[in-house]
Amino acid sequence: MPPRRVIGIDAGGTKLLGGVVDEGLVVHHRVHRTWRGADLQETLDIMVEAVEEVRAVAPDVESVGFGIPALVEHGTGVASWSTHLPLADFPFRDLMSERLALPVFVDNDATLALLAEAREGVAKGARHAALVALGTGIGGGLLLDGRLYRGSRGFAGELGHIVLDLHGPDCQGDCPGRGCLEVLASGTAFGVAAEQAAARQPRSALGKRLAAEGEIQGALVTELAHDGDELAREVLAEVGGRLGAGLVTIANALDPELIVLGGGALAAGELLLEPAREVVAERALPPVAERVRIEPAHFGDEAGMLGAALFALERGEP
Ligand SMILES: [Zn+2]
Repeated sequence: MPPRRVIGIDAGGTKLLGGVVDEGLVVHHRVHRTWRGADLQETLDIMVEAVEEVRAVAPDVESVGFGIPALVEHGTGVASWSTHLPLADFPFRDLMSERLALPVFVDNDATLALLAEAREGVAKGARHAALVALGTGIGGGLLLDGRLYRGSRGFAGELGHIVLDLHGPDCQGDCPGRGCLEVLASGTAFGVAAEQAAARQPRSALGKRLAAEGEIQGALVTELAHDGDELAREVLAEVGGRLGAGLVTIANALDPELIVLGGGALAAGELLLEPAREVVAERALPPVAERVRIEPAHFGDEAGMLGAALFALERGEP
């Protein structure tokens, strides 16, 4: 018998990564899309198109798993709310299944990234873990006592909205919060912190880029920091410290064996992780700090896609 195959789609705040994945977690075809600024209809059209593209080369797929950056009601597949996509009380699973004429399974993107890491990645064997996904925003997932934890309806694990600063900057998208971890330590926050540093030091490399382009993207900060630029490294250390403060709260609240960090912004690597680890070591309650490991995702930015595929392979019941 040939291995079962499904399509896994990780739909982030601004982009999509998908693929045909078999039950051994081998990825056969990949598809990428971006949708900054698209409305709901356009976003859904892009998702459908992406699925059709990979399905054309793998007509044997049995279902599609979606990870989306939204509060997804468990059992119904209704997207109740999203900070980053125009989804509200939207029957995502049923409508998508009708359009694709395939069974569809949908859950929160970061929860599914943790599913992949717990099954075959860095959290394999752990019974208590959290995942923090650093991208445009910050997603979160929880594994408690060996099972994904979803709360009373499926909305648990929104670790990006841990409040670090009651009077801090307004959070992103539709979050009513202020000073959330997401607005202070996401990939987007790299750019904001870099613009502030650039304004203070206009003759630095960051300062020159800000003058030339009017804004600084998070990816540029990471690139300059890897090239050894001091100010860019300071920016990552500052943001890493804030990330660490968020991890302190997660560690103290859950006493996990490990916290997995994933998402595209993790390209910053140890320049971000080391300052975060230092804050956890210094500030978390000592027995908690001694135990918790802080590790990058084994599957990198493919964790969400693989988790979505696993969710479909397990028919929405992991
Ligand atoms: Zn928030």
